[in-house]
Amino acid sequence: MNFHAITIEEVTKKLQTNKSGLNNTEVKKRQEKFGLNELTQGKKISPLKIFFAQFTDFLVIILIGAAIISFAASIMFPQQSAGNIDTVLILIILLANGVFGFIQNYKAEQSIEKLKNMSSPSAVVFRNGIQERIDASHVVPGDILILGEGDIIAADARIIEANNLRIDESNLTGESLPVTKQTQPLKEKAVIGDQSNMIFTSAFVVGGTGRAIVIATGMETQVGHIAKRLENTEDRPSPFQTELSQLGKKIGLSVIALATLIIVAQLAVTGVSLNNFLPVFIFGASLAVAAVPEGLPAVVTVGLAMGSRRMVKKKALVRHLAVVESLGSVDIICTDKTGTLTESKMSVRQIHVDNQNIEVTGQGYGLEGEIKKAQSISKKDVELLLKTGALCNNAQWQSKDEVIGDPTEIALLVSAYKGKQTKKALESYKRLHENAFSSERKMMSVVCEKKGQKSIYAKGAAEMVLEKCTHIIENEKIIKLNEAKRKEILAVTNHMASDALRVLGFAYKEKWEKEEKLIFLGLQGMIDPPRKEVAKSIKDCKKAGIRIIMITGDHPVTAAAIAKELGISTQTVTTGAELNTLSSNELKSKLKSVSVFARVNPEHKVNILQALQNEGHLVAMTGDGVNDAPALKQADVGIVMGIRGTDVARQASDMVLLDDNFATIRSAIREGRGIFDNIRKFVNYLLSANAGEVVLIVLALLYGRLILGSEQLLIPLLAVHLLWVNLLTDGLPAVALSLDPIAKNIMKRPPRPFEEGVMNRSTGMMVLTMGSLLGLTTLIMYLIHLEDPIHARTITFTTLVVLELMKIAHLRSQYKLPAFSNPWLVGAVIISFLLQLIILYTPLSQYFQLVPLDAFDWLKIGLATSVFWGLSRLIDQFSEGPKENEL
Ligand code: ATP
Repeated sequence: MNFHAITIEEVTKKLQTNKSGLNNTEVKKRQEKFGLNELTQGKKISPLKIFFAQFTDFLVIILIGAAIISFAASIMFPQQSAGNIDTVLILIILLANGVFGFIQNYKAEQSIEKLKNMSSPSAVVFRNGIQERIDASHVVPGDILILGEGDIIAADARIIEANNLRIDESNLTGESLPVTKQTQPLKEKAVIGDQSNMIFTSAFVVGGTGRAIVIATGMETQVGHIAKRLENTEDRPSPFQTELSQLGKKIGLSVIALATLIIVAQLAVTGVSLNNFLPVFIFGASLAVAAVPEGLPAVVTVGLAMGSRRMVKKKALVRHLAVVESLGSVDIICTDKTGTLTESKMSVRQIHVDNQNIEVTGQGYGLEGEIKKAQSISKKDVELLLKTGALCNNAQWQSKDEVIGDPTEIALLVSAYKGKQTKKALESYKRLHENAFSSERKMMSVVCEKKGQKSIYAKGAAEMVLEKCTHIIENEKIIKLNEAKRKEILAVTNHMASDALRVLGFAYKEKWEKEEKLIFLGLQGMIDPPRKEVAKSIKDCKKAGIRIIMITGDHPVTAAAIAKELGISTQTVTTGAELNTLSSNELKSKLKSVSVFARVNPEHKVNILQALQNEGHLVAMTGDGVNDAPALKQADVGIVMGIRGTDVARQASDMVLLDDNFATIRSAIREGRGIFDNIRKFVNYLLSANAGEVVLIVLALLYGRLILGSEQLLIPLLAVHLLWVNLLTDGLPAVALSLDPIAKNIMKRPPRPFEEGVMNRSTGMMVLTMGSLLGLTTLIMYLIHLEDPIHARTITFTTLVVLELMKIAHLRSQYKLPAFSNPWLVGAVIISFLLQLIILYTPLSQYFQLVPLDAFDWLKIGLATSVFWGLSRLIDQFSEGPKENEL
């Protein structure tokens, strides 16, 4: 259907809709008929696929194969084969391991899926005669889309109203310049991109406003036809995941080499036969499976995913997991002011007209309050100023006493109301055209018609509006605006700004449509108080070694006043105009001392950001508008405002602040650091446990050959034991460690250098020393019981389990976490220990080839544990160990 070639009335008729939009029953019907407005069927996670993925690991497959062959051989050749129930146990443990892996991965996948859904785009539609924001996937043909700057177009639609509407269609056409859209149909046959009265899914509004009727959704859209995805939602592996899978591979290769060596050594002694080969091979493979930390990347994912779920509860939504890692290393936060540091609940406090100030009373957006005009001020001038603020305004009356829209504009509608410029009083003005606001222009204007007469009304940053003015109104007289007068107005602006007021200038001209040669009317100053919690958050960030830089579009004096209240250094404030004159070197040195930048535009943000990054800083930057998208993309952590932010900015960001609040950034950084701690704790735990097992096996073998000169190899643990320990330690404690609380001192440490991965020098040292200590302690337990091999194995095996569980306590003590502060972990440790008791004291013990331990054995285990604990604390003292800031 060529919707672009017919009239709006015909489109409306064809789609059976009208200007006030569809009603609920119709929406329901259409949703059933057309389905969700989605480009591709969302890739659903298949639990089965995740489950089988747990068994695709090369080593696990080999081990499963060997166990099955061994089991089959034990049935077919019961006399010759050494395979026994042992192999079944191995399969069961591997299955249990797979189930654990599955649960972890499935949880991680689910969290990732949830995150994706939460950050999906929205659309503003007109339904039942009211404007509402809905999930973009719920848009149906016939819906009326309301378009504003930064919106991503949710469906293909025909324009029915356009005010300077400019659309970026580069996603579809590759054309980087925005296209201006209009309502009239084009007669000629057109292709995508030439249809200037049509908009298409995935393009976005660069500027202006408009309305459009949806003509196609989902796969029926142009983009659907070419089945192109707007966003590449593939999750890249995060740096940690890459680092750890590489580390895992390296360790894996060494362990496989070691296992091969053990197999070859054993076979050299016993000779090769099926009887000999399979058990030795299974032992070697089990050692490899137990010691290779193949689960590391998955554990990182679980850690990141769980952490990111906690972050959502604190109102910070991460859009991909890798950002959680960067968060912990952020050392500079570049934040905007309005709404993030301040409440953005503005109310006009002061008006400047006819060279005099007028006080405006009232609180917030409340309509109570009055304009305390002095006798000497012209009533008409005040009314004209207030009227201009109300006409040049996109906020709307939602009900009799509620206004919705941009906070600056709400404040102006409210001040106009207080001055009797009510909605009703202004009804006779019909808006014809809008020169939209942008952060570059810092002003806007509208052309309105009343009784056939067209006039222009403008508002914006005082100096910008002044530039467009040639005259000023004073006591109802229009006089020329000379240089002295301009200076005087700017001085008044400065004065008002120094009281932390956000000041806007107003101008108009009757019978005139151009945004030039205007008549200046006066100023309105509104209060936008700092958010209460922000000053403390800034203090905390400073303690945590994070510098705060305020980058705002507002007046330098207002910016400085707010910065001062919040404890941001305000020695010098640099403006966008100054930035334009600086060389990159000058900017670099400015950035060392300046922490407040005012009257900047989004382009300046990118420059500041790049300069900081070149100096090696890891920068988080906030933004909301379309033009902030490049800065958000460039930032190490791009943070978009969930409430104020546009769809385009959201797409470019790494994290969404659901409450637009700076304090949330601080919480997110704290969480990010906490998540990192937990991941490092776990990696440390897992690797030192594995190292301990390897040390034990290797030393026992060497001891047997070299010291005892024994023919047979000394094997302190059987294959099932190794796999069991692996199951106990990789299972519950892993998940529980990722739920560990955040260390109290976490925001007193400096940020972690970003290049430093999970395995830094001190963690590496820890793994080696603690692994050796673990291996040596268990070896001694083995050797002193050597005359009874089964008893020796049982006591060694149990000591290993107990020490590994003990190791968790040691690890956490380094982070100064109270022993019982994580109930999950306490539970995990208790369950793991109980499981060990079960295999010791139930008939299961025969399958594990264990004998029950008596009280004296437990006493010895207790003693070994105490020595281990004491020595590990001693190592903490003497090793360079993790320092406070390196943990
Ligand atoms: P921040 O960057 O900290 O959020 P901001 O909201 O003041 O600060 P911009 O939105 O770029 O930054 O606004 C810059 C200036 O433009 C404001 O100080 C104000 O003078 C003017 N301004 C803001 N909103 C409007 C508007 N709706 N209409 C006209 N002028 C506006």
